[in-house]
Amino acid sequence: MITSFVLKVASRCNLNCSYCYMYNLGDKTYLKQPKFMSIDTIKTFATKLNEYCLENNLNNIQIVFHGGEPLLISKDFYRDSIKIFKETLPNNYFDFVIQTNGVGLDDDWYQLFNELNIRVGISMDGPQEYHDKYRVFHNGKGSYEEVKKAITLGLNYGLNGILSVINIKIPPQELYDEVKSLKINGLNILLPDGHFDQLPDGMEKELVNTRNYTPYADWLIELFKIWKNDKDRVSIRFFKTLIDLIVGEDEGDQILGKNINGVAVLETNGNLEVADFIRACYEGITRNDINIHTHSIGDVFNDRLFNVYMNAHAMVSQKCLNCSIYDFCGGGFLGNRYSNDRGFDNPTIYCHDMIKLITYIQNDIIDGIPEDTQKEMELSKVSYEDIVNELEDNNEDIMIDTEVKEKLMYYRLA
Ligand code: SF4
Repeated sequence: MITSFVLKVASRCNLNCSYCYMYNLGDKTYLKQPKFMSIDTIKTFATKLNEYCLENNLNNIQIVFHGGEPLLISKDFYRDSIKIFKETLPNNYFDFVIQTNGVGLDDDWYQLFNELNIRVGISMDGPQEYHDKYRVFHNGKGSYEEVKKAITLGLNYGLNGILSVINIKIPPQELYDEVKSLKINGLNILLPDGHFDQLPDGMEKELVNTRNYTPYADWLIELFKIWKNDKDRVSIRFFKTLIDLIVGEDEGDQILGKNINGVAVLETNGNLEVADFIRACYEGITRNDINIHTHSIGDVFNDRLFNVYMNAHAMVSQKCLNCSIYDFCGGGFLGNRYSNDRGFDNPTIYCHDMIKLITYIQNDIIDGIPEDTQKEMELSKVSYEDIVNELEDNNEDIMIDTEVKEKLMYYRLA
């Protein structure tokens, strides 16, 4: 079931971030897209969405305005769009969100989003020195000052939080101090896009998923300790999801756990596709011929890649099926599993990082439980080494379904 739609309302951006999966990794097909989504496309989408909700008895829908940069489109577009959604689906509850780079986000925009009940999220990559290296304008100038201004202003309007791509060159304490100094309550961190044939900046190919190479886990564990020791801690969604998963109170998301991925992307021309992070794999991988002007929303289930993505945490490599932390890791985010020779039939590039991080948090939770309760509940600690040994021993009792393997391998290039 699709419950969240990401609307690519602008297919161009005023920034040129070096790691951007939209424009600087793998896929240039955005150049064939209209620059902006039309109101006609919104009207058609709303009508098809109404049919989809009625067919599936759905009342709650999330609409995420995204890009490119969604502030490049006019304010009237947002006024008209929200009106259309509310008039076409009067009985539905909508969670409207906009994810912006923050450039040009002023009082007028915030007032509009407050009036339309659109929650605002801003992307920022830590202190100025680091942010300005990656999140740059097309002339190479850093965007930190503008983004900081937008965040500070947002405090008057209940800013939803900031989203940061993890940069392990930033000392975790510096990142955390920056977030605290901005006085925002919410931080969400994302593992960088990338796969086995296009690793994130600084990740060493020959060391990936080897026993002593866990740069992301080491960084995340340090951040976790800082965060946990802060009595007045900000909310970090990545950690919250992991903790909730471990204690059985969450089913996960696109990256963690074994949830079904219920997100679809609507392109500026009305194409309905799989989550766009997957574009980092190779040119055109997400493209199909399903368009909202000629198809219904349910037709996207006929898209082979959409099906793989939706069931990505069930369709995992044989190694993952036999891994003792599969329930929490879920095999990782689909895009991070890709390699030219095996398609998606791999554990994530962050496999060893996930083992180290998850076992650390799991053991930390156990440490917080009184010893007699631990005994009563038969809780025992798990070590990183034990799980890595298990994986290296290749004792794979659970076999991958041949049809699943075929579907995962279908995308290999070699
Ligand atoms: S930790 Fe590695 S082997 Fe285990 S589920 Fe995650 S990606 Fe798969």
